[in-house]
Amino acid sequence: MTVTQSIAAVARAAHEDFTIETLTVSPPGPGEVQVKVAGVGVCHTDLVFRDQIETFAKPAVFGHEGSGVVEAVGEGVTGFAVGDRVVIGFSSCGGCKQCGEDLPSYCQHFVPLNYAGLRLEDGSTAYACGEERVSSHFFGQSSFSTSCITRARNLVKVGDTSVPLEYLGTLGCGFQTGAGGVMRSLAAKAGSTIVVFGGGPVGLAAVMGAVIQGCSTIILVEPIADRRTVGLELGATHVVDPKAGDLAAALREIVPEGLDFAFDTTGNVGVIEAGMASLGAHGAIGLVGVPKEPDASISVNIAALMTPGHRIIGIIEGDSDPEVFIPELLAHHAAGRFPFDKLIKTFPLAQINEAIAAQARGECIKAVLIP
Ligand SMILES: [Zn+2]
Ligand SMILES: [Zn+2]
Repeated sequence: MTVTQSIAAVARAAHEDFTIETLTVSPPGPGEVQVKVAGVGVCHTDLVFRDQIETFAKPAVFGHEGSGVVEAVGEGVTGFAVGDRVVIGFSSCGGCKQCGEDLPSYCQHFVPLNYAGLRLEDGSTAYACGEERVSSHFFGQSSFSTSCITRARNLVKVGDTSVPLEYLGTLGCGFQTGAGGVMRSLAAKAGSTIVVFGGGPVGLAAVMGAVIQGCSTIILVEPIADRRTVGLELGATHVVDPKAGDLAAALREIVPEGLDFAFDTTGNVGVIEAGMASLGAHGAIGLVGVPKEPDASISVNIAALMTPGHRIIGIIEGDSDPEVFIPELLAHHAAGRFPFDKLIKTFPLAQINEAIAAQARGECIKAVLIP
């Protein structure tokens, strides 16, 4: 197998625009697969790693919601062949206790596999710019590129779908986090009540997940009016503008006995505290939002937590086992219950900076880049 070339969006420094560059891609190593990327979603975590995580070596290629077609397979790979249509999910080892319990997002090797920026076997990277090393393997894929190297275990095969292949990578992180958070982590029961904080892609997927579960009251808290409207279209029964007044009081007004579930995608301490204050007996709050400050903390009164049996649950990737959950979400989509494609707007990969700006201004909910 030979070294190929790709056009990629490269992050060279924190808070600086991505640059479009031609890189070389080394052939897939043992257990790896090369994928011709059809589309890749932009997720907030890409920017967190570009701007806030100094330990991830730059220059780097980010991107972790890729989908595409297999173009080469490395030594020892079984179950995948050139031409397969695939979604690229996150990396997990497949051998630890959590992987064995179908909870790969809590894999004991999750951090190095997803955040080291290199091949753990030999320290090499998949990308280079001439002689310069360029970090790869972000979430095991670094798919802001026309072609990427990933581990076979990252891949979920998808057959013919009514949704274009380029949209499907979004199921590999943001959308499965929101939907899985409600459907799997919180396992909301039919007839239960829930508030979702934040109407971005993760929060709106949580709203769709709550509809699938049959929740009777689904409240979306979101400052942008257009996103509240989208939330109502997707099945939220109530929307609240958090800037309009006392948030906890607004929630109590809708469900005076307190909510069964709260789901936070904001990472904002004040919002999480309002969510905890809005819980009813044996209520649970799920946390998926990455806080702006790494040392952000909430303080909890022990008796006030214990007496009503409240639960606080940290969630990664919606507790999803992508191999099972992505086909499940596609089946819900086919049945009209998970219209995630309506939230997507595509941009050429070369317009990545414009796409991020449009997403930040609230003009599009989920940007998908087409290499
Ligand atoms: Zn594992
Ligand atoms: Zn993500």
